[in-house]
Parts: sequence; structure tokens; C-alpha cells
Amino acid sequence: MFSNLSLAEPLLRALNEKNYTEPSPIQAQAIPYLLQGRDLIGVAQTGTGKTAAFALPILQRLTASTAPLLPKRPRALILAPTRELAAQIAQSFGAYGKFLKLSHAAIFGGVSLSPQIRALSHGVDILIATPGRLQDLERQKHVFLDKVEIFVLDEADRMLDLGFVHEIKRIITKLPPKRQSLLFSATMPLAIQELASSIVHNPARVEVTPVSSTAERIEQQVAFVNRNDKSKALVHFINQHPTGLVLAFVRMKHMANKLVDQLARDGVKAEAIHGNKSQGARQRALENFRSGRSRVLVATDIAARGIDVKGISLVVNYDLPEEPESYVHRIGRTARAGMDGQAIAFCDSSERNLLRAIERLIRRPIPVLKGHPFEGAANQPDRPRTTVEYAGSGIDRPHRPAQRSRGFRPQSSSSTQGNRFGGGRTGGEGHTRAGFARSGSSRF
Ligand code: AMP
Repeated sequence: MFSNLSLAEPLLRALNEKNYTEPSPIQAQAIPYLLQGRDLIGVAQTGTGKTAAFALPILQRLTASTAPLLPKRPRALILAPTRELAAQIAQSFGAYGKFLKLSHAAIFGGVSLSPQIRALSHGVDILIATPGRLQDLERQKHVFLDKVEIFVLDEADRMLDLGFVHEIKRIITKLPPKRQSLLFSATMPLAIQELASSIVHNPARVEVTPVSSTAERIEQQVAFVNRNDKSKALVHFINQHPTGLVLAFVRMKHMANKLVDQLARDGVKAEAIHGNKSQGARQRALENFRSGRSRVLVATDIAARGIDVKGISLVVNYDLPEEPESYVHRIGRTARAGMDGQAIAFCDSSERNLLRAIERLIRRPIPVLKGHPFEGAANQPDRPRTTVEYAGSGIDRPHRPAQRSRGFRPQSSSSTQGNRFGGGRTGGEGHTRAGFARSGSSRF
């Protein structure tokens, strides 16, 4: 219950108006730390309720603080990678802060400067900004960051993908050293951990990978294939899958290019995206894919982050990822917007450890696709496994997960249905929690 989280009455009233009764796991874990004034690292994706997890405590702490509001000097700063996200966060502050007397403004590129400059000169308590526009306005002295009490870096991994690292580092130098800092990121690669260490101090850490209801609709299979047969097998599965977009993941950048060439030789038009491609080339490839001009996209994990393309109906793990979490993120690209999706993981004899790590993470064995033309018999694991007979004329779909998720289902403000949260601690709950719930909290 939100009422157990020591939130102020005007916030509870606003939540009540939105029909939010139960905090999501990230909210339940993060809010108590944030109300205490702790720094925090949140490993969470959009859709987990992370915005309210930071917005509610920020609103409460700013209301309680006695610091005066000065022109051009925001008291809370939220950095977001895109204007869409910045606008969405601003909207959330508006909704949750409806019964408080705090002001907020969003500043981002691509729109006229003057209303943003005007808002800043009046003074805003909470500023939500994209890094580029904030840097411009800061350089022009339309905003000063020396009175920021609370700083949030949202979607840090996406920030780095979009090349904002220099802007962020520069902005941090403008903040007062005494502040509360929060960093949210869907993933925590080394580069983010390093960035985090320059931002947060003795942080609490909360982690929630989404119990995505989409994961439920993904038919997952593993196909044992010899390394040398993988590209032929990919062509085969693409051809057996006549509709929808196909996203194939490889581990190495050079492999992405090589595979696109191999596919072209077999008459399959594909595009590659990876970190060595320019932003423009990535965008073009993505556009061709989105529009269906190229039905197949070959991607590395980093390049694929942030891709939100509707209509991907098959995800192929051409190489199994080194990080088991990546598997969950990869297959989550399909089955969006209420559609069904399939995920086939190729596993060669060198990848069985990686497969085991993935299955440990998702807490269930992935059914084996038996009888397909490229079956690498030597790769079969010795223990008994669920198998799915390959139908040949298409990819068979007999596997349905037995359990339904009881996970976090975001609720729109107009909905009157109750929420069903879950996905809290998974320890000891075994398979009763469907899919990919993994959360818990720990301190550094
Ligand atoms: P976010 O991850 O912050 O983008 O939030 C995802 C969606 O969940 C948004 O539409 C929120 O309005 C909604 N939401 C956030 N917290 C709750 C809650 N406690 N109960 C129901 N819906 C929520």
C-alpha cells in the first residue's frame, strides 16, 4: 500500500486520483531510501514505474525543505535522454504534484527556446531536461545548477548510447557537491558503473527487471546447431517465417556485417546495426527495417538497445549472449504491443554453458526444437529436456507457459481496475513467479 510508505497526504491524494493503490516493486524498494535522503542506483526499465519511484520522494523532500526558490536556479534536476521521455516525466511530476505548490518545467531541443527561458527566469523547483539543451541554456546563463538539491540521471545506458557522456560529465561539474543523486539504468555495464561512481555517493541499490507481460507471449525455443551451419539455419528459419520482422543478435560487430553479406548471397535482404556504424547509418538501417524494406535486422546488443520497433515477430539469438540478462532484453524486442512473438536461440557446442546460465536466470529450461534440418546432434545436452517437434512448414508453437504472470501491470489514469503487483523478491518462490521477475535490493 502506498499509505505504508510515509508519503505526504497530498501525494497520496494524487495517487488515489490516478487509481494507483499498490506501489510497484521499484517504488516499494526505492521510496523509503529516497525519503531518507540516500543516493540510489536503480536498475530498472521503463514500464516498471520508475518515474514515480523518484518523482514522489522528490516532491515530498522539496516540499519539506525550507530552501527558497530563486530565478534560474532549479532545486531538482532530472536528466532524460530524449525529449519524449523528458515530456513524459514532466507530465508525471504534474500529476503527482497536483496538490502541492511546486513548479516544474521541461526543456529539450527541437522547440523554441523563448518559453523555456521564460519559465527558467520565473524560477522552477523541478527542471526536467535533455543534456544538449540544458548545456546550451547553462552556457548562456539562463540556468544555474548550484542550488540543485536532488539530481536524477534517468536511462543512463541510453544516454551513453546516444553519445551524451561529455554533456553529462560537464553538467555534473556544475552541481553542488552536497546533493542527493539518483541514477537509473536498464543495464549496468562497466561504463555505467564508472559513470555512477562519479555521481552517487554510498548509494542504495535497487534492481527490478520487469515482469514483462510480453515475455509471457514469447514462444522460446533453443535449436542446437553446429557453428558452421548457423547462417544456413538462420536463412531456413527466416524463410519458414514468412511474415513479420526478424531480429537476429550476434556478439561481435564484424559478425553482423559478415552475416548480412551471407544472407544477401542466400537472397535475404538484411541490414546490420552495430557500434561502428555512424548514427546516420544506424538510423537508415533502422528505418529500412521498421518500414519492412529489409525484413531482417542483424544487431549487436549495444546497438539494439533502445530500439522499439513494432512488428518484430521473431528474435534469433544467433550467438548466445555472454551476459544472461541480455537474453531477456533481446527476446523482449518481440511480442510488443500485444502481439505474439517467437524467440529461437542457436546453441553450438561451445555455448552450452551460456545456455545453462540463461536457464538459471529465467528459472526454466528452454524447450528444444527437435527435428529441424540443421540439428547438431553432437550438441545435445545429456539431461532430459522438454522438446518441441519441428513442424517444417513453419515453426511449431506447442509450448505455452503454464503460469501467468502476477507481475506489475502499469495502469492508466482512467482505469478503475485494481493493480496486480508482484515480481518482488523471487527467492523461494520457484516457478510460481512466471518469467523474468528478478528483484531485490542490496546496499553497495
Ligand atoms: P514508468 O516505468 O515510470 O514509465 O511507468 C510505467 C507506467 O506505469 C506509467 O504509465 C505509470 O503511470 C504507471 N504506474 C506507475 N506507478 C504505478 C502504480 N503504482 N500503479 C499503477 N500504475 C503505475
